[in-house]
Amino acid sequence: MKAADRKRILVTGGAGFLGSHLCEALLRQGHELLCADNFLTGSRRNLLSLLRHPRFRLMRHDVTQPLEVDVDEIYNLACPASPVHYQQDPVRTTRTSVLGTLNLLELARRSGARLLQASTSEVYGDPLQHPQTESYWGNVNPVGVRACYDEGKRCAETLCMDYRRQYGVDAKLVRIFNTYGPRMQADDGRVVSNFVMQALRGAPLTVYGDGMQTRSFCYVEDMVRGLVAMMGTPAGTGGPVNLGNPNECTMLELAQQVIHLCDSVSSVEHRPLPSDDPARRRPDIGLARQLLGWAPEVPLEAGLQRTIGWFRQQWRAAPALAAE
Ligand code: NAD
Ligand code: UDP
Repeated sequence: MKAADRKRILVTGGAGFLGSHLCEALLRQGHELLCADNFLTGSRRNLLSLLRHPRFRLMRHDVTQPLEVDVDEIYNLACPASPVHYQQDPVRTTRTSVLGTLNLLELARRSGARLLQASTSEVYGDPLQHPQTESYWGNVNPVGVRACYDEGKRCAETLCMDYRRQYGVDAKLVRIFNTYGPRMQADDGRVVSNFVMQALRGAPLTVYGDGMQTRSFCYVEDMVRGLVAMMGTPAGTGGPVNLGNPNECTMLELAQQVIHLCDSVSSVEHRPLPSDDPARRRPDIGLARQLLGWAPEVPLEAGLQRTIGWFRQQWRAAPALAAE
């Protein structure tokens, strides 16, 4: 990369699952990276291969505090994403999305940096439209246990759009649908990590409710390509744009597939459905195809195989993972 094309990029939440893969991809492209994280759900371990890289810097920082750095682009990924994690301290979750996005938009306004906000399919709540297009306003319970995440992210979207309209900030919104892959935390409660760990241990897979609820799972590599493509769009393009894999499956189907791919003896055990759990979710990615020329390439089976391989490796390195 020519020095003139090299950008200084801030990734908040860069020590997390998605953020660490994004940092790797941006470094590979030749950019200079500053990763800011408070290590709530992320860790240095996710960045081990990058810590000594001459173009990479890691700082402990909570995005609810203002930040003064000189960068060209900001990816705001800071926020716990697993329902178990974001419901542990719901007030903190809302503060992270709202104050965090506000602080980073202020930084973008002062410095002229471009900002990409990691929003979520959760802004559609328990959707009444299927599949979900960006024009759908959603069906969110504002007083439920998931609201700290959903409404925090919705407010962050509002802030991005208003900073665009009011101050001309080049803020871009992507709505990320369920994403999985290596470096998910084994105990974060999300369905893919839960099922894989349970199958590897030979324990029953905990299917919540009747297991007929659906999700559409996108492999992390595909998602990172989408995030970078969106950041590269001209200033007039702000989204929101859905990013996800439209291949939808029920949680029961997912459980069977994980058992099969792990060659496991596990059975399936039903547990109560958490409140406000969305019944169906599948992105319409027509806009992403048209604007970004983007579509996921990794099929669920191949992505699950890579993820299972990674969890097996973790297990070998730290056998304590095998215990429940
Ligand atoms: P993750 O929990 O692995 O990563 C989040 C990172 O943000 C962690 O490193 C955490 O320590 C950091 N963080 C949390 N609060 C912070 C704060 N106040 N200040 C600084 N850092 C903070 O989750 P992930 O799956 O990598 O998700 C990354 C982003 O993508 C999140 O914003 C999430 O809402 C969004 N997203 C993810 C998915 C998905 O399926 N993975 C789906 C939709 C949206
Ligand atoms: N789920 C499940 N068993 C688990 C964990 C989750 O059946 O051990 C279900 C959960 O109820 C939801 C789906 O899997 O319907 C996806 O859950 P996850 O927490 O991964 O993501 P989200 O609900 O935020 O899409």
